[in-house]
Amino acid sequence: MDDPTTHDAVNPDLADLEPSPEVMAALGRQTLDKVLAHVAGVETMPVRGDMDATALCRELEAQGPPEHARPLDALLETVVDQCVPRSFTTISPGYLAFVPGGGLYSAALADLVSNVTNRYSGVWAAAPAMIQLESNVLRWLADWMGYPSEARGLLSTGGSLANLAAIVTAREERLGPDIRPGVIYTTTETHHCVAKAARLAGVQPDRVRALKPDGRFRMDVDVLQAAIADDRRAGLRPFLVVSSAGTTNTGAVDPLRAIGEVCKREGLWHHCDGAYGAFFHMVPELRALLPGLDETDSLTLDPHKGLFLPYGTGAVLVRDGEALRRAHAATADYLPPPADAFYDPSQYGPELSRDFRGLRLWLPFQLHGVARFREALAEKRELAVDCARRLAEIPGLVLDAEPELSLFPFHVEWPGSSVAEQSDASRELMERVTARGRVMVTGAEVGGRYLGRVCVLCFRTHARHIDMAVDDFAAATAELLAERGVGA
Ligand SMILES: *Cc1c(COP(=O)(O)O)cnc(C)c1O
Repeated sequence: MDDPTTHDAVNPDLADLEPSPEVMAALGRQTLDKVLAHVAGVETMPVRGDMDATALCRELEAQGPPEHARPLDALLETVVDQCVPRSFTTISPGYLAFVPGGGLYSAALADLVSNVTNRYSGVWAAAPAMIQLESNVLRWLADWMGYPSEARGLLSTGGSLANLAAIVTAREERLGPDIRPGVIYTTTETHHCVAKAARLAGVQPDRVRALKPDGRFRMDVDVLQAAIADDRRAGLRPFLVVSSAGTTNTGAVDPLRAIGEVCKREGLWHHCDGAYGAFFHMVPELRALLPGLDETDSLTLDPHKGLFLPYGTGAVLVRDGEALRRAHAATADYLPPPADAFYDPSQYGPELSRDFRGLRLWLPFQLHGVARFREALAEKRELAVDCARRLAEIPGLVLDAEPELSLFPFHVEWPGSSVAEQSDASRELMERVTARGRVMVTGAEVGGRYLGRVCVLCFRTHARHIDMAVDDFAAATAELLAERGVGA
């Protein structure tokens, strides 16, 4: 076990919970050097990482708590050199799997400031000016989404909890206390966190409809209408439609305007899950890709995807900000009264003490300028369109839908192949492309078949990385088809 005479003696300053300014500076520099060396190598790291981690996990599992101080360099080495490489390289420009983001360095600096200053950003009265920065950021997000001035929002830890806050708000507004008859409408393509949030919000799985989408994986408004009518006839209370502004599986954007019209006519709340795609609405030239997004009752955004922030930042906006407040307001005798004239986070969400998420958005916006974010989003969209066009030219690859935003599905197909053979080959293709090490891609089961997908959203991804992806797809597809005896 730890021998205090070695560690505490070697590193006497580290044993102190209050290191001197010199020691803090040295620790900071050491940490910075380590992470910057990691980032400097990002282009050449295998994008999937070395996922053979079982032995290391067993070794780590056996470790007990350290009783005495240890030197930072050894600890950084464990984390950055041993644990980190055994993970998907989500910061890589070649990461085209799931939904990328990348993790802006400037947001990490914001976290450093937040964590070192460690002021209390749970209630307005404890740090009014800091919370004003967060409130400003939410105001900007609302403006970019076309929401009105009375809209309010919340920075959550991610899209899942943003969806939860929205579902709870819709439930309170449209059902009140009698929630058992309430029904929520989604599609089979809706992110699974919506069904989970519904359950956490007290809406049981038998009250969540996963409707069959249309041929382009979008919510079918006729199917929605019919389902609402069926449930009304059965004595139930339809209260919420959750649409998607870019599904995770295929990037499909539901017909938001038409869904909104149904909701208005039927008295339902329209929540849109824009965790993947809503930030494209920031870009004026791309706004037409998301018609009706600005008319929804509430909207989930995921800054750790579309704004490239490190994981741990989601957001929800609610058109009628008072509704979000009514669903979450709470106070206690020991706390100062909540602010009325200013935004008070604890009154709009489930948390009390929380990290100061606002600075993670505020500092990058200020430091880079918002124009850079719009340019990056427009670039990702263009890259995806270009990538889709070039993949469609590869013999044996068939697009299942054009990219509506920056994500598109496709599959392997050859004359006489069955859907099962195509699914197997598509799965194999994603694996082989990823195994080449330069890009990572993942597919999804959609409507009973397996589809490949490419999602471009990392801020580091540029044209040369798409060139690499296209080359690797072309080579791997040719290889697969040759093995199946298909002439090119
Ligand atoms: C990523 C995603 C979510 C979940 O968000 P988390 O931030 O992972 O909690 C929900 N919906 C969609 C469409 C997503 O892409």
